[in-house]
Amino acid sequence: MANYNNLWPEKATPEPNGGCLSGFIFVPLAVIAMSLVLSLTLGRITISGAAAVPDRGNLQDALTFVSPYDSYTLTQGPHGFSYGHMAIDIAAGNGATIYAPINGKVTDLFIDGLGNPTLIIENEIYRVTLMHGIYNVQIGDTLAAGQPLGSESNLGNTTDMQGLSCRNRDCGYHTHLNVYDKRIGTNINPLGLLEP
Ligand SMILES: [Zn+2]
Repeated sequence: MANYNNLWPEKATPEPNGGCLSGFIFVPLAVIAMSLVLSLTLGRITISGAAAVPDRGNLQDALTFVSPYDSYTLTQGPHGFSYGHMAIDIAAGNGATIYAPINGKVTDLFIDGLGNPTLIIENEIYRVTLMHGIYNVQIGDTLAAGQPLGSESNLGNTTDMQGLSCRNRDCGYHTHLNVYDKRIGTNINPLGLLEP
């Protein structure tokens, strides 16, 4: 096992991350609302006679998880527990193409209170959060796993190896990746999916 301890700490001090917290307060409500809509929609489809029950193939689609990069370096192991994450930081270089890790829908895209561009992609099983990149998708877009969705940057709260802010500096490029598993209702270590 590699040593994941603070190879590239992005936070010099524990952060309040108000934006992220607000995101995680509102996202569950959005999910509940979406589920209701989905249930209603599925109900209608069932009545019309089309296949509405998720089959094994659809489940497999939802379980698919691919790397957001062609290749990457892990710059920080699981972190962010103070603001409800168990995320990792991975880096492939400024401007590197970022791919959708799952088959899913863009359910949120916002800049949080710390200036972090935050992209959320969901399906029946996973809710994936990506941060710090330049994202060229929109809320409501349906993404296929492996589909390009943006490029790596250092936007928001990123730091260099010494913990100094990389705002307006040429450093700190990476993607903060958090994966929530709806089946068990908690975040899971993304490394378990990327490097099983
Ligand atoms: Zn991070």
